[in-house]
Amino acid sequence: MENLRDKVQVTQTFMPPKAEYDAQLERIWESKWLTNRGVLTKELELKLKNYLNVHDILIMNNGTIPLQIALKLVGGEGEIITTPFSYVATTAAIIWENCTPVFVDIDPDYLTIDESQIEASITEKTTAILATHVFGNPCNIEVIDKIAKKHNLKVIYDAAHCFGVTYNEESIFKSGDISTCSFHATKLFHTGEGGAIFCEDKELMHKISYSHNFGHNGPIDFHGLGINAKISELQSAMGLSVLPYMDKIILERKKVVNYYLKNLSFETLKTIKIRKNVTWNYSYFPIIFKNEETLFKVQKALNDENVFPRRYFYPSLNTISYTNKSNMPVSESIAKRILCLPLFVGMSTSLLQRICDQINKNLV
Ligand SMILES: *Cc1c(COP(=O)(O)O)cnc(C)c1O
Repeated sequence: MENLRDKVQVTQTFMPPKAEYDAQLERIWESKWLTNRGVLTKELELKLKNYLNVHDILIMNNGTIPLQIALKLVGGEGEIITTPFSYVATTAAIIWENCTPVFVDIDPDYLTIDESQIEASITEKTTAILATHVFGNPCNIEVIDKIAKKHNLKVIYDAAHCFGVTYNEESIFKSGDISTCSFHATKLFHTGEGGAIFCEDKELMHKISYSHNFGHNGPIDFHGLGINAKISELQSAMGLSVLPYMDKIILERKKVVNYYLKNLSFETLKTIKIRKNVTWNYSYFPIIFKNEETLFKVQKALNDENVFPRRYFYPSLNTISYTNKSNMPVSESIAKRILCLPLFVGMSTSLLQRICDQINKNLV
C-alpha cells in the first residue's frame, strides 16, 4: 500500500472493515446506551476472556489507569521496586499514586528487570514490585514470585505489550497479583484508547471493580473510594470489530519479524532474546546497535527514506527530571542504542528490503 512518499511509522493502527464497525455502532444507536458497562463492553470482556483464556478481566478507558488503581490498592504509598526500561507511564503511575519508584537495572538480553538484583533493593518501606514484560517478553515470573512471597510484597505486571502472550501455555496476564494491558491505538489489539486489568483474587478484583466506577455500590451507596476508569461503548465497538482479526494480525507480524531476522546483518546488531516456553506476540521489533553513533547514522538514513523507527525506550526512566537519578548502567546503555523498527500488517517486501538495506549499509 505504501509508496516512497508515504511516511512509514513504527506502527500503523489496524483498521477493521468499516462496515463491521458501523454494524457495532448501529447497536449503540438503537440502545442509546453509550457507557457504564453497556452490552458491547460486557460482550467484549466475555470474548476477550475466551480469546485470552483468563478467568477474569475488567476493561478500562486506557492502560495507565489500571496501573494507578493497582498501586492505589496495593502500593500503600510505599517504595515500589520497578524497571527503568519501560514506557514513562510505568514510573509516572508510581509517582502519581504517591509511591516512590526504586529502580532495579535490567537484564541485557531479555531487557526485563534483573531479578537477581531485586532483593538487595528491598527495605521495610517496600510494598510491591511493578515490572514490565517489555515488548511482550515476560519477566522471570517464577523468581519474582518467590521473592515477593518471602518478603510479603505484591506483584503488579505492566503487561501493556502482552496481548496474546503465553508462558508455559498459560496467559501471561495470569501472573502476579495484578496484570494490566493497554489497548491504545499503537498497541497490538486496540480500542482506540483502552486497557484492561487482570486479577485472579476475587476480593481484590471486587475492589478494583468498584474503584474503577467511583466506588459505586448501586446508585446511592458506595463500597469505598473510586475514580472514573470506565470504557465507553464506542471504544468497545472498535474492540469487537478488531478482535476477530487478531490471529491474522499476529501471523502477518510474525512474517515481518522473520523477514527482519533473516535479512538484517546480526554481526554487530542484537535483538531481544525471548524467554523460553513463551509464545510471543510479535508486538515490537527492537534492534540494539553497538553504540549510539551507529543508531544516529541508521536513523538518519531511514528518515531520509521517509521511514521513522522509534527510540523505544529512551531515555532510561531513572534519568528523567522527576525521578531519583540512580545509576542504571545496563538500562541507560541499552536505551541509548535501541530502535524499534516499523512493524505492522501490510508491509510490502520492497519496503522491508529498503529498510534492511539502509540498516545493513550503515552498520559499518
Ligand atoms: C502504552 C503503555 C502504557 C500506557 O498505556 P495507555 O493505554 O497509553 O495509557 C503503559 N505501559 C507501557 C509499557 C506501555 O507501553
